[in-house]
Amino acid sequence: MNSKKKQVKIILLLAGLLLVGLFVLQGCKKSEPTTPTEPNEVVSAAIEQTTCPIMGNPINKDIFTEYKGKKVYFCCPECKEKFEAKPEEYIAKLPQFQE
Ligand SMILES: [Zn+2]
Repeated sequence: MNSKKKQVKIILLLAGLLLVGLFVLQGCKKSEPTTPTEPNEVVSAAIEQTTCPIMGNPINKDIFTEYKGKKVYFCCPECKEKFEAKPEEYIAKLPQFQE
């Protein structure tokens, strides 16, 4: 009798695992077509800043300051310091200030 109960438990466990597996697979299939985030990023990159206004290198999104309510990104902390010292000299190179 005990062994039968164990079998039922194992079957239930396997069925549960199968269900979870199906859900995971379905989740993967569903998430695949809903990841067209790359074109969006390209579109926003055209408006947003992609290069450091001081050195012209690609920006590091972890290094930024706020100027006139807008975020300004830099490639390194030294550029951030240079910008903060004379922001008006560099805003001409920033797409977010071109209006
Ligand atoms: Zn830099």
